Amino acid sequence: MTDPRTKFPKVNPPEQHQEYPGLDIELQPQSDIGIETYEGHGRLKGRKALITGGDSGIGAAVAVAYAKEGADVAIAYLPEEQPDADRVLKAIEDAGQKAFAFPGDLRDLQYCVELVEKSVEALGGLDILVNNASRQIWHEDLEHISDEDFDDVMKVNLYGSFKVTKAALKHLKPGASIIFSSSVQAYKPSAILVDYAMTKAAMNSMSKGLSTQLAPRGIRVNAVAPGPVWTPLQPAGGQTTEGVMEFDTKSFLGRAGQPVEMAGAYVFLASEEASFVSGETIGATGGFPTP
Ligand code: NAD
Ligand code: MG
Repeated sequence: MTDPRTKFPKVNPPEQHQEYPGLDIELQPQSDIGIETYEGHGRLKGRKALITGGDSGIGAAVAVAYAKEGADVAIAYLPEEQPDADRVLKAIEDAGQKAFAFPGDLRDLQYCVELVEKSVEALGGLDILVNNASRQIWHEDLEHISDEDFDDVMKVNLYGSFKVTKAALKHLKPGASIIFSSSVQAYKPSAILVDYAMTKAAMNSMSKGLSTQLAPRGIRVNAVAPGPVWTPLQPAGGQTTEGVMEFDTKSFLGRAGQPVEMAGAYVFLASEEASFVSGETIGATGGFPTP
């Protein structure tokens, strides 16, 4: 048993900034995506999973955990994130599973369809879809959000999830699982993240609406709502410089969460253990109670 307040040290980040979308391997300090620390128990043996944004942060931790639980995994990410993706692909293979990479930009709807088709072909089917990729850029106020940036956030977070899920549906059989990365921001939007927060609420609603629609097909749909987790999204425009440096103070447990601490919720929702769970959002917020 460990004390959740001290299971991981405070990240205590030095001042840093990365160009969007940022790289895990340049994060100071490094985060824990579970390569050494996550222990698998065969809970996803033989499953085939596609994870968007699987190169870094939470998506990377989910990819590593899924592989350690016995799944083959395809990951999607932006081409400039290849160095992060290489590390995750190696970790999947080190776990004895097949790893596939299909980089591209989710703002391109044609890519969304090709991503699914190529993943299904490579994996030999699809059992688990994790809509995890998202764009988060802070803005002082609404007047500072350019129309183009608003559009980009909607395109990655909402159109991307919509298009990838739509393309995946015809491949999903009874027993399949769709999981969205929502956020505590869906319930408690920060003043500087209004556009992002609205997409997280929408992803949460999309998950709940789809769950009722797909239950008659035997497909479960759920979401995970992380709290503050130490990932490259934060110093790559997701938070102000001060916000990054104060990142430990944003949870009730008094420290930032680590990506590996999110993996269990995604594993559970994809697994047989969750066979009666659909339309649910699991909060992994570091203590913030969700509605
Ligand atoms: P991350 O930067 O590691 O992951 C986000 C990924 O989104 C990137 O790796 C990138 O591959 C992908 N992405 C962004 N723009 C893209 C585009 N145009 N085309 C294709 N892919 C694109 O950060 P993370 O924190 O691990 O984020 C993963 C998910 O977790 C996101 O949905 C985020 O909203 C959610 N989340 C994160 C936190 C947190 O504190 N880190 C909290 C709540 C929710
Ligand atoms: Mg990344």
